[in-house]
Amino acid sequence: MHFFIIFVFLLLNYTPWNNAYADAEIQPDNTTIDSFTLNYLYDETRQYTINEISQKNFPLQINNRFAQGYLEGNSWFKLTVHNNTQNQHFVLYLSEPFWDQFDLYYKKEQLWLSHKNGLSIPLNQRDYNDTHPAFKLTIAPGDSQTYYLMGSSVSAHIGKLLLYTEKEYLRPTRITLNDLYLFYQGILLIIIILNSFLFIAVRERIYAWYIAYILAFSAFISVLSGSYLILGVPPWSDALHTVGTIVVMFMVLFSGAFLELRERLPKMQRLFNTFALIFALFAVLIALKVPYTSLVFNIVSSIFFTLLLFVSIKVWLQGYLKAQYYLIALIIYMPSMALMTLTFNGLIENTELSRYSFIAGSFIEIIFFSLLLVNRFYDLQQEKIKIQAQLIEEQEIQKRSRELIKSNQRLSIQTRELEKAKKELTLQAITDPLTELYNRRYFADIASKAFFNAMRYKQALAIIMLDIDEFKKINDMYGHQAGDQVITHCAQLLTEFSRKSDTVARYGGEEFIILVPQTSLSEVQSLAQRIKQEVNNTGIVLKNGSVVTFSISIGIAQIKKTQDHNIQDIIQRADQALYTAKQQGRNQIITNV
Ligand code: GH3
Ligand code: MG
Ligand code: MG
Repeated sequence: MHFFIIFVFLLLNYTPWNNAYADAEIQPDNTTIDSFTLNYLYDETRQYTINEISQKNFPLQINNRFAQGYLEGNSWFKLTVHNNTQNQHFVLYLSEPFWDQFDLYYKKEQLWLSHKNGLSIPLNQRDYNDTHPAFKLTIAPGDSQTYYLMGSSVSAHIGKLLLYTEKEYLRPTRITLNDLYLFYQGILLIIIILNSFLFIAVRERIYAWYIAYILAFSAFISVLSGSYLILGVPPWSDALHTVGTIVVMFMVLFSGAFLELRERLPKMQRLFNTFALIFALFAVLIALKVPYTSLVFNIVSSIFFTLLLFVSIKVWLQGYLKAQYYLIALIIYMPSMALMTLTFNGLIENTELSRYSFIAGSFIEIIFFSLLLVNRFYDLQQEKIKIQAQLIEEQEIQKRSRELIKSNQRLSIQTRELEKAKKELTLQAITDPLTELYNRRYFADIASKAFFNAMRYKQALAIIMLDIDEFKKINDMYGHQAGDQVITHCAQLLTEFSRKSDTVARYGGEEFIILVPQTSLSEVQSLAQRIKQEVNNTGIVLKNGSVVTFSISIGIAQIKKTQDHNIQDIIQRADQALYTAKQQGRNQIITNV
């Protein structure tokens, strides 16, 4: 890189120094004279008047393209123009619009006349409404005229003087450097709009930094061409270096984002942030006219760009392939910017190449970066689409598993309901709906099992049969509902008096049966007695207030291990006993022994 700069430096300085003409000759067929020499005098004191200056010997002969570097004093140029044409109106034009002062002096009839120009002079008070200094020269055909130019600038004493015939200068179709700059800014505007859309779409800070960078660069071009003056922005002699510094600042921030330093080299990102801060500080100091800031800035920015070069190589070698494109853009951009800086500092000769190659360099760089950013956007979109597809797939899976869980839940609810229904059905199958006692069929099952158990373990087992006396009469007197109430009451009473190990069932209409296992006959009899007693003692109060009293007859039978074959044998004997009880006048207990 540095060898390249030195090589260009030598090449540009090799052009042979031509002292042949001290003056500019305008020949009849000339419309533009872009190569002549000037006499140069540097006034460090800034004290001399035009009268004193005209007495002095101008020690240097310089090219019409000159670069004297950064100077605090006044630069004086002397030029004699010979008019060999029939025209008499010519224009002397300076290629750089940023000089604070650039005044023309000439003597006419022993009097010094002056045309003021430079940033300090409003456009409408100049010879021509041009952002660049342009002076109207009037020289009679065949005459010569000596002109003095005095310039001062906070920027470099750099420029290119040109002579035009006035007709050529005013020719509407003449393409000027400002036209080129304007075209450039148009492209920058398109790039800004494009990247604004990208920024809105992805909201990545890299696009914001890039837009800021292009905006600053566009402002820089505006200052360089002086076009900001046309927009009515007040002239500002420090604009070029202040804005130039801001351009570099945004380039630091953009480069850090582009090279993804935050993720790849976090320490370097911090250093870049520091550099950005330093450059912001430089911008302020330059605007405040603190001496030597521009010089220090040039040194610091050279250090930064060297660092940037190494960092982008490092990031590339780390496997970030896009860094190589960044590197290419940088390698195109840096030498062109270096050439401009060297020209401004008067270190190399001011030529079209050294002065303006930055336009091509920066243009290529900006287009390159734009392409990279569009590419990055495209990559991001692709990734987004991929992630979205994955997300949709995951959501689909989640949805399906949710549905599965739901249908499982539904299934288990259904199963539970089914089980409940089954239980209810089973219960219904074995119970009597009116009394909620076991029914006859279920009782038969239980009793049969109990019978075989008792036989096997040689245990006691008894059957008590109960029948409500003259129930028909109750039905007839109080109605069927009252009869039901009596049956229900009787059932409750039996459940209350029997033990948990006993089984009570409704055996028929108003007939009940109790299975009493492992109980002695006397105990069974006393249970029957207690039941009969309770029935005799209680009456049932009906809705209409009348009280129903009733009695029951009870038959008891016990297991006979030697002769019984099944439970029906015992039930039969109990039934016989009950029949006997009825026969003997009801409301009594008979045991069939
Ligand atoms: P006893 O047993 O003292 O000889 O006289 P009884 O009047 O009770 O005679 P029986 O056993 O012949 O009559 C039973 C009556 O009970 C016949 C029927 O109308 C009635 N009954 C049967 N089931 C029900 C019922 O669920 N509700 C009501 N209210 N009455 C019933
Ligand atoms: Mg009966
Ligand atoms: Mg009866």
